[in-house]
Amino acid sequence: MEPRPTREPRPRETLDPPPSDGPPPSGEPPPSDRPPPSDEPRPSDDGGGLPACRYRDLPTRHAGQDDWAITLLDTIYRLPSDFVPDHLVSTARAGLQAGYEIRPEVVDDLRAMAQAAEADGAPIAVRWAYRSYGEQAGAFAYWERVRGRAAALRISARPGHSEHQLGTAIDFRSADSLKPPWGYEDWGTTPAGRWMARESWRYGFILSFPRGMEEETCYAYEPWHFRYMGRDLASRIHESGVSIRRYLWEHFHSASSD
Ligand SMILES: [Zn+2]
Repeated sequence: MEPRPTREPRPRETLDPPPSDGPPPSGEPPPSDRPPPSDEPRPSDDGGGLPACRYRDLPTRHAGQDDWAITLLDTIYRLPSDFVPDHLVSTARAGLQAGYEIRPEVVDDLRAMAQAAEADGAPIAVRWAYRSYGEQAGAFAYWERVRGRAAALRISARPGHSEHQLGTAIDFRSADSLKPPWGYEDWGTTPAGRWMARESWRYGFILSFPRGMEEETCYAYEPWHFRYMGRDLASRIHESGVSIRRYLWEHFHSASSD
């Protein structure tokens, strides 16, 4: 077996600033080789089931502090603007760099996942975690300004609609480079990205916007954005083969889920 390369010392925090109200820390837009975005509603493929992708501002059904695993957030359903998790802790608690916040429920599995990824030679780091409603408004406005509204709607959530506001969604990057994951042609093909796609569910994390499921998730493929669901629910979603959006809709949100 080849010796594992020694891990680079962690970059200083000044090189990787925490998110702010301003534009995203990197001005690098994601790859632009996606199909042209469309504002047209997309047909639902299971009439009466999961709603087609539309842009609405309906209150999500489960928005309590303890509902973080079952809160459906998409282009239609949203959190209240004043929703802030009761408790947030630094990602340093999970042995990763400081400067980002998550709900405490995420800490233990995030630590275990980061240790496993590193042991497998695919170390991960956090690029963004909790974002407030106001920070999300800034992020969306930034993309709207640089890419136009139609593209912004495909790559960024409008304020209130982001899983980052729950405190359980994390954008990961490779630990051996400060490059943001959206600066790669496809971060999902890097060692860290491949490892995460394969293993994250074992630690309770699910990729929210997989490749090829854009019409179901309503967002462009984002290989770096994972939402913590807890191990049990993550296993069930993984086995189901459907997106978080569809799973939550069918099991917790639609009238027939009662
Ligand atoms: Zn994200």
